[in-house]
Formats: sequence, structure tokens, C-alpha cells
Amino acid sequence: MAVKIITAAVRGIDGFMISVEIDIERGLPCFNIVGLAEASVRESKERVRAAIINSGFEFPVARIIVNLAPADVRKDGSQFDLPIAIGILTATNQIVFTDTEEFVIMGELSLFGELKGIKGVLPITIEAIKNNINSFLLPYENANECSAVKGSKAYYFNDLKQVAGYISYRDLVPYEYSENYDCIRSNLDFEDVIGQESCKRAVEVAAAGNHNILMVGAPGSGKTMIAERIPSILPELTYEESLEVTKIYSILGKLDCSNGLIKNRPFRNPHHNTTVTSIIGGGNLMPGEVSLSHNGVLFLDEVLEFKSKVLEALRQPLEEKKIRISRLSGNVEYPANFMAVFSTNPCPCGFYKSSRPCTCSDYERKRYINKLSGPIIDRIDLFTFVNPISYNEIQSKTKNENSSCIRNRVEMARKIQKERFKNYGIHCNSEMNTRLIKKYCKLSRGCSDIMATIYNKFNLSTRAYSRILKVSRTIADLEGSKNIEKKHIVESLQYRRFLNEEII
Ligand SMILES: [Zn+2]
Repeated sequence: MAVKIITAAVRGIDGFMISVEIDIERGLPCFNIVGLAEASVRESKERVRAAIINSGFEFPVARIIVNLAPADVRKDGSQFDLPIAIGILTATNQIVFTDTEEFVIMGELSLFGELKGIKGVLPITIEAIKNNINSFLLPYENANECSAVKGSKAYYFNDLKQVAGYISYRDLVPYEYSENYDCIRSNLDFEDVIGQESCKRAVEVAAAGNHNILMVGAPGSGKTMIAERIPSILPELTYEESLEVTKIYSILGKLDCSNGLIKNRPFRNPHHNTTVTSIIGGGNLMPGEVSLSHNGVLFLDEVLEFKSKVLEALRQPLEEKKIRISRLSGNVEYPANFMAVFSTNPCPCGFYKSSRPCTCSDYERKRYINKLSGPIIDRIDLFTFVNPISYNEIQSKTKNENSSCIRNRVEMARKIQKERFKNYGIHCNSEMNTRLIKKYCKLSRGCSDIMATIYNKFNLSTRAYSRILKVSRTIADLEGSKNIEKKHIVESLQYRRFLNEEII
């Protein structure tokens, strides 16, 4: 007898549907899996056999052929154990399962028949619902993830016996999506950052226009503390953005099983020893840090300590907001739209322009900073200097502004941008191209004069020129101002002064 069970797998960031066809005939006993199954799928034979026997069922002594269709796509992973086991039980009439096409079945089995969680349940659920199948039989650990998608019905189990029991008796209520969409924010708040007003302001502007920012300052001046708090002033993730982020964590198996959707903006802080593969992705065609920080913040602390190959590799995601990975086993594309936050010491010893004397020569300092040029400096919209805190500031009793106040302003500015760019497929000022800059960054005569003076005096590149305009646009948006005014340009120029020195 032949049976068809529906399951699915993940390729890149998306799920795709697979049918598991099981045919059991009389003949010389054998158990084969065909249909471009990788070694990890073929191993499932041993688990399925043991799980069926140890769950109190009979394993047929017959000729068993399992075909995974479509046969032209590679299949990897252990999630086919459960559909194969259920298929065998159905084909041998040990359970009665007539509406097999109504369910997506997935899960790994242990030799004792226990169900184990699998990776990629979220993209699979999204794909299945697109294909009009909304009931899922899956491991307990994946229930939250599955029910995070609107319209899904998750039936979750601990072992094979329970799944077989449900199929026969239909005695469970599914776990469904609930509108309970609370965002529990982390307790990192800008309220904790003493002083640093100018740096906080630069960060606010960067967050408002999704600009990349570089913080320069001595060790211990609080660069990391500020960077970690940036997600707290970014707008809340929308449901769609939240799905995008959760998908990436789902295929890496990085989801905590207690929560379904990721509701906070990601903050990734890779170590400077990291490799190109872990930043960009590609090991096993899996996504890297640039995708894990999608819709959030990628923070490279002490950016000059990173290998130049790693910084070079950031070029594509910074520019295209996505990353393509090509390997022998295939090509995939992952989203990588993040706000880049970099930090660096001002010089090799770290104390240039701080309260402690700097022991570096001019030459050493220049050489140090020159390392930044190229891929990084070209893509930074704002530079800010983080000054060591003075004694007065520590003692000061004035209360620091908290993150939610700053976030309100950022959200307002983002709203203006969303409306402005609704027909252009972009969301923020940082993404404007030359044509849009011309259209939305019109300058009055007075402003134009200032820009002309600066342009000639500092020998600005056109790239720097357009960055000044984009940041000015964001500053004007933060104020709710329709036009870019002189004060907006003057403030924007401050953020092109690297190390508080000349404008670049
Ligand atoms: Zn120094």
C-alpha cells in the first residue's frame, strides 16, 4: 500500500513543501530512502525503525521505499523522521489516517520514540499556510514558533505514541496565534548613561535616519554602553519585521522555545577574532552576523582590531542590505538590513584628546586611522567623539533622559520618512540615492552658500557632500521641519568632523 504524507524543509530563508511517499510491498525486506536525500536524511531509517518498535508498534518485514518529492532538490536534516514513521504506520494499517493532505508533519525521533525539536519551523509554517495547509503536527519544543504565524494550528507532542493517538482520536485543541503582541524591552536604558550629551544626540540622529555611525573615544569612555542601548531607541518591530527576524533565528535553531516571535530589535556584537564566514554567513549555507542583525544593530567594537578581510566583506551587505552566498552546494540570499555602529580608539595608545596624555607620534596616529579608510569610512554617515566623563558630570543630580523619550522623537522622524518614501521602496533618509537627495534635500540660498563654502574649503568629496545632506534631512525631520535650515546643516557638519578635527 502507498501513502503520501506532507512535510516541508528549508532552503535559504524560505520553506518549501515536500511530500513523503511511502510504498510498502511484499518482497525481500529492505528500507530505502530516495529523492536526493543527504546522509543525515538516510540515517533516519535507523531512528524510525527503533522508534516504531520501542513505541509498541510493529515494524513491517517487507520492502519499504520512501520517496521525497520533488526529487530534484537536496534534502537535509532530521525532520523527516516523524512523517516517515507516521507514513509507515498508516501504510501498514496500524493507524487510520485518511486526511493526510490536511496536515504538515515534522519532527526528529529518538530511538525511544521521543520527539525532538527541529530548526526552521517558522519559515516552514509560513510556506505551508501559503499553500493552504494550516494544521501542523510537531514536537512540543516548536509549538510556540509555529503558533507565532497568524492562521496556524499547532498540535504538539512529546512522542510518536501521542502523535499516533491524536491521529486516531482527534482529541486535542490546537495551539493558535494570539494577538498578545507585547514587546518586553530589555532593561538597558539611556537613563543609565551619564553625560555624553553630544554623543547621545548623534546616536539619536543616526537612529532616526538609520545612518551608520562611528564612535571614537578612549577606552572606558562608554562607547559600548551607548551602543548596547541603541535598540532601546529604535521603533518597535512590526509583525512583518518580527517574522523576518525570527525566520533567520529559526533556521539556525537559535530560538528560545519559550517564545515564538522575536519582538526586540537584534543587537549583535561579534568579537574581533571573528571570521569572514561567521560575519557574512556561508558555513553550510547558513546566515551570519550581518543577517542575525537584520532589522537591528550590528556593533563592531574596536573596529580596527577586525581583520581587513572581514571589514572588506561588509561592503556588500552595507550597500545592498542583503547578502548572497554562493557555495558548491547552492546559492542563497539572506536579508542584511542593519544599522552599523562602529567604535574605535582615537590612536594606538587610546588616549589622544582625553584626560590622559597620548604617547603616540603624529605618524603612528595617522597610520592607525588610515586603516579605517576604504570600506568603512566611506559608509559612515556620522562620526562622534566620546569624551571621558568629567567629575562634575558624575556628581550632577540632573536626571538623564530615558530611552522612551528619545524613542518617541525617533519614531516621529521615521514616520515622516516612511510617508515621504512610500512610493520608492525605501524607508529611511540613509537610503536616498542622488535623485532623491536632489528632490528632498533642497537648500535655500543661505544654506547653499554655507555648503559651497564648506565644500571648497575642505575639498569635500561628493560622497561626503551627499552624506551631509542626508543627515541634515534627518535632523530637520527630528524637528518636524519641512525645509532643511541653516542650523540643521551646521549640526550635520559637526558629525563629519572626525576626531573633532577637519571635516571629511
Ligand atoms: Zn595615543
